[in-house]
Amino acid sequence: MRKEAGKKYVTIDWKPDRMAKEPLYRQIVEYIMGKVGKGHWTAGSRIPSQRELAGLFQVNRSTVVTAMEELYAFGILESDFGGGTRVAAGTWPMLMAKAPDWNKYIRSGNFRENQPAIQTINKLEMDSRYIRLGTGELAPELFPREFAEEIMLRLPGQIPSLNYIGPLGLLRLREALSDYLSKKGIFVKPSELLITSGSLQALQLISVSVLQPGSVVFTEAPTYLKSLYVFQSAGMKLSGVSMDREGLEYWKIRQDGGALLYTIPTYQNPTGTVMSSQRRKELLDFCERNQLPIIEDDAYGELWFEDAPPRSLKALDKGGTVLYLGTISKTFAPGLRIGWVAGPEAVVERMGDIKMQVDYGASSVSQWMLAEILRSPEYSAYLTKLRRQLKERRDNMLRALELYFRELAVWNVPSGGFYIWCRLKKPVNMERIFQKAKKEFLLLNPGNIYDFKENYALRLSYAYAKPEQVEEGIRTLARIIREELG
Ligand code: PMP
Repeated sequence: MRKEAGKKYVTIDWKPDRMAKEPLYRQIVEYIMGKVGKGHWTAGSRIPSQRELAGLFQVNRSTVVTAMEELYAFGILESDFGGGTRVAAGTWPMLMAKAPDWNKYIRSGNFRENQPAIQTINKLEMDSRYIRLGTGELAPELFPREFAEEIMLRLPGQIPSLNYIGPLGLLRLREALSDYLSKKGIFVKPSELLITSGSLQALQLISVSVLQPGSVVFTEAPTYLKSLYVFQSAGMKLSGVSMDREGLEYWKIRQDGGALLYTIPTYQNPTGTVMSSQRRKELLDFCERNQLPIIEDDAYGELWFEDAPPRSLKALDKGGTVLYLGTISKTFAPGLRIGWVAGPEAVVERMGDIKMQVDYGASSVSQWMLAEILRSPEYSAYLTKLRRQLKERRDNMLRALELYFRELAVWNVPSGGFYIWCRLKKPVNMERIFQKAKKEFLLLNPGNIYDFKENYALRLSYAYAKPEQVEEGIRTLARIIREELG
């Protein structure tokens, strides 16, 4: 469903068949009756305007008018108070007799629905006509197809079965990760590692295993975490802490127990900030003194361009303050849906126990595959090449910004990761920019998604769109912003 000004609209992804014998209006009547009759469109669901319907069905407006008149006459549709149309309640007993009021049910779930802009992004990302200027994913061209194929060919000889795996995940993968992490100065035993279905699931498991409703999760402002409702849906509050050039200003944290700190110290999402080595030491020291556990999200830590980033908080942590999250999504493939948590045994076991109740383990095919990838000598050559390609893409986006955005915005030059945080110099209505860009087939990630206050920023990503599309997209975007500024 689409949402506009607080209203839900039904989704329409069907068109009448022009070659069919049945008139177009009749096909539309039957389509809508089918949707209502089967309970897909529940009572009260909003129907787009006649003009929009004509566009969606690709028919004349008069065809829509005829169909709507019939549906009104049948009592299937009715007008709502705002001048729109909605599915009528209770006046279609024959069709509706068996359908419960699903709207009431779906509103009663605990998990909050995504922000409207994110719902739009999630849908339109599948439409290849759009230039995706904010997507936090590697472009398909960057996927090492041959390497992946070779890895997959090696698997059949290794996988003894595809049965369920124990609570912490495939031992072979945890062993490979333990080795892999040791090269980054993180020394954890396989028993201190939990494999998750992406690091998103790690966050979900943390929200239901180690925090009470009402607890506070401190985090950088802005932050990726603000774009999700994982913690808020479980009754926690997010509290944003400002950053300077060296990262999170931890001294601003005021807490009195039961809280957590979530941080992305390396190539932060969305600002690209890298927490300095000194700040990392001070932050860890602060958290140890205050017994404030840290969730360190290191999704982008491998993706540096010139110099490797400072050691992770987990590598500095001697006392068990840090719960470290890693993922293969940003460096190789999010579709594998594999992430990991490194932390004290008691914590990963508790999370693993919940994971067994939630999904009985991440895909074992993916786990076998990742174990093989990490053990393969080609992986590091792949990473080296990926870093170079990402850097070229970064430079390309920076060139486009220099060309078209100099008067409009300021931005950082990231030393790794995917993102440029682009802050407009003058306030503009970001919702209108998003909508106007959408009309021109540009998909944006507005900064407000990630922030605790209005920020007039955009999270730009050079990882996904093709370099020539980036140039075109940035040029179009500059025009849209100029028009909006008047
Ligand atoms: N953490 C950060 C900082 C991210 O940017 C993302 C993906 N956008 C995730 C976690 C989630 O990634 P996944 O669940 O695919 O591992």
